[in-house]
Amino acid sequence: MEKSSRTLPTFCVQSLGCKVNQYEAEQIAAALRRRGLVEVADPSVAQLRVVHTCTVTVQAASKSRQTTRRATRLPVLDCSPTRLGDGVPPNGAPQATGAWDLQPDTAGRARVVVTGCWATSDPAEAAAIPGVDAVLTNQDDVRARLWSLVERWMPLESDTSAARPSFAASVALPILADRQAGPQRAFLKIQDGCDAFCSYCIIPRIRPRLSSKSVEDCVIEARRLVEAGHVEIVLSGIFLGAYGQQTAIRKRQRSGATPLAALVEALCTRVPGLGRLRLSSLEPGDMTVELIAVLRSHAQVVPHFHLPLQSGSDLILRRMNRQYRREDYLRMIDRVEGAFDRPAITTDIIVGFPGETDREFAQTLAVVDRARFIHTHAFHFSPRPGTAAARWRGDFVRGPVVNERMRMLTDRARAAGLAFRRQFVGQTVEVLVEKVEHPTHRHGRCERYFDVSFENPAARAGDAVRVRIERADEEHTWGIVL
Ligand code: SF4
Repeated sequence: MEKSSRTLPTFCVQSLGCKVNQYEAEQIAAALRRRGLVEVADPSVAQLRVVHTCTVTVQAASKSRQTTRRATRLPVLDCSPTRLGDGVPPNGAPQATGAWDLQPDTAGRARVVVTGCWATSDPAEAAAIPGVDAVLTNQDDVRARLWSLVERWMPLESDTSAARPSFAASVALPILADRQAGPQRAFLKIQDGCDAFCSYCIIPRIRPRLSSKSVEDCVIEARRLVEAGHVEIVLSGIFLGAYGQQTAIRKRQRSGATPLAALVEALCTRVPGLGRLRLSSLEPGDMTVELIAVLRSHAQVVPHFHLPLQSGSDLILRRMNRQYRREDYLRMIDRVEGAFDRPAITTDIIVGFPGETDREFAQTLAVVDRARFIHTHAFHFSPRPGTAAARWRGDFVRGPVVNERMRMLTDRARAAGLAFRRQFVGQTVEVLVEKVEHPTHRHGRCERYFDVSFENPAARAGDAVRVRIERADEEHTWGIVL
């Protein structure tokens, strides 16, 4: 197929896993965009395919492997930006005056780079996949390595020096200034690393060093994101409560310091136009009186908190090496409920952890009944090689038992979620409209995180719309626009 003379190299970043990974994928995309490559959504039209992987469970690692394999096998279709309906390079990108596509590999395939947690935990396996050109681990300077790879793959004979961007080494990925994927919500990664070593989790081996973004950098980044059109910012980190700390192990942290509270205060008072601030995940030791006082004093902080429980049994929590016990968790729920009007609390629970008997599982159900979670992410325990819990084979719970417990938990969780949403029938909520995919139908998340559907052809993605809740069933909540 004939190519346009304006052939800026195209790339896509596929991200798996958590919010931190989504954020890092945006950082990688921002770095490549700033160097003049054109982002495309469809991997089959990308000349450079970055797969930002996850390794938190065996399933996540397997999905990362499959996605990488798929990326290497896709043919390169005609990827000229003009043919993609995107002939104008993004702001600040160099204008191409001649052709300088990325060179494919010797087999004519697109370039594939694997990054992220699975690339870090299993670099040799990732590198052995035919068609993978490079594996960059979390310990690498990802931006500098990516830029030098792109430089190497630019065919010299087609170089037009005016058009070609310069690739300088850099020590860190950029602060995000661009609009992120969804127009309504942006992730702001404020912390990385964990050294808490929960017995089922591989992350401390993949991201062992803790680091935090300074308050000033967070404020600058948040301002840019709001100026770029984002209404809501979600603070994310591997261990959010360890923001500003050198360790996630509470007994070793500086006592009396509340850096997360200071950050929330700064964001809520120094970022004009910030509509909503959400915190991604907190534990009982994080939800201090000081933090709650700051959270409740700012209208931008939404009354939704993700508070992972994992288990309601002290015996299992101890085996998990979690830093709280059942009573700590319940006290935190009391504090949050006392501070906010009907807060929405979501949680994670691992079902069938090694050694979990019916008794321990019943203790988890009792906490679920008490906490009335709006949503429960229930996970079937999956042994992650390299963790302590994966070695406790003798205590593994049989599959049918775990399945039955999952069913019981899911039933309770659904009922609790429905009861929570039904409280709001007849009341008004503010909905942030998600991507528009229908001529008249719209939906989006309200302050308390549940999704609300309504009819309004005029509403655009990112709009904040006032909606009165009319009804709720197990799957959906409907309302009418006021
Ligand atoms: S706190 Fe525990 S579960 Fe969370 S990242 Fe650290 S080790 Fe993993």
